Amino acid sequence: MDCIFCQIVSGKIPSDVVHQDEEVIAFRDIKPQAPVHILVIPKRHIPSLAQLTEDELPVITHMVEVANQLAKREGIADRGYRLAINCGPEGGQLVPHLHLHLLGGRKLSDELG
Ligand code: AMP
Repeated sequence: MDCIFCQIVSGKIPSDVVHQDEEVIAFRDIKPQAPVHILVIPKRHIPSLAQLTEDELPVITHMVEVANQLAKREGIADRGYRLAINCGPEGGQLVPHLHLHLLGGRKLSDELG
C-alpha cells in the first residue's frame, strides 16, 4: 500500500504520534498551520468522507472524541479550536486517506473557504 498515512500507521514513515488506540492514530502535522495542528486518522484505509460506508460511520464519532481529548491535553479546549475534514479535490484534500485536522493555539481565520 503506497498510501502515505497507511505507512504512518504501520510505522514505515516516522511521525510525531500523540495518541494511538485500536481504531485511530493521531500525529502532529508535518507542515503545521497553527501552533497546534494534529491529524486524527482511522487506522483502516478509508479514502475520504465521500467513500465512508454506513458501517464505518462510528469511526467519525471516535475521531471527534479523540480530537476533543487532545484539545484538552494541548490546553486549547477553553480558548477554542477547529476540527476540519477536507473531502475531494475541491474540498482541499491532498492525502487520500480520511483525516480530521485539529487546529488551534491562535485566533483562526473567520473564513472557511
Ligand atoms: P489535506 O489537505 O486535508 O489532505 O491535509 C493533508 C495534511 O497532511 C497536510 O496538512 C499535510 O501537511 C499533512 N501531511 C502530509 N504528509 C505528512 C506526514 N508525513 N506527516 C505529517 N503530516 C503530513
